[in-house]
Amino acid sequence: MRAWERHAEHRTSGEWHVHTSFTDGTATVDELCGAAERSGIPLIAFTEHVRRSPDYDFRAFLDQIDLARGRYGLTILSGVEAKVLPDGSLDVDDDILASVDYPIFAYHSFPADKELFFGTLHDVITSGRAHAWAHPGTFSTRTGITLAEDELNEIMELMARYRVAMEINTKYLTPDASWARAAREAGVAIVRGSDIHSLKDLAERDERWSKMSPLL
Ligand SMILES: [Zn+2]
Ligand SMILES: [Zn+2]
Repeated sequence: MRAWERHAEHRTSGEWHVHTSFTDGTATVDELCGAAERSGIPLIAFTEHVRRSPDYDFRAFLDQIDLARGRYGLTILSGVEAKVLPDGSLDVDDDILASVDYPIFAYHSFPADKELFFGTLHDVITSGRAHAWAHPGTFSTRTGITLAEDELNEIMELMARYRVAMEINTKYLTPDASWARAAREAGVAIVRGSDIHSLKDLAERDERWSKMSPLL
């Protein structure tokens, strides 16, 4: 079962995209859980950046999450944000992938090649290895790649069939209205991710969400 199916009631009230000081965030697991609890956020998912060999102690990251679960009154999930590689795999070790509650995928540095983008998107969605697509549309917008309507619909139908959720990312304000509509029509589940990197990001979460919620 996907994490967002298990916690379906928190798909848009919970926070599904958070980074900590283990990578490029500035706050600790503990600080973020405390602040989330005080703000009444019911769920927080730590989707930390990874590579096949992370340059930080991933076990320590999981240990901090376990400790926080005993301290704070909200649902706390472990996760990773893994980047898609040109061969269609994810840049994450299998053991790490299996150890987390909520793995998500993203396009970061990737060749500006539409065929490769479309093909790897297929591979990743059908592999069943990720529960959601993080900041969908940032890569294609940045590189000027456009999917034709039938291609977009094909991807959305695959996401629905393989139960891959689409993140509404309030940091990058993606997806756009046309992608959100295609997702809705195909029955793709939506999760709310703010790409939190600091306590300030967490505090501004609702204000940012209000810009995106008309898409739902
Ligand atoms: Zn990202
Ligand atoms: Zn992120």
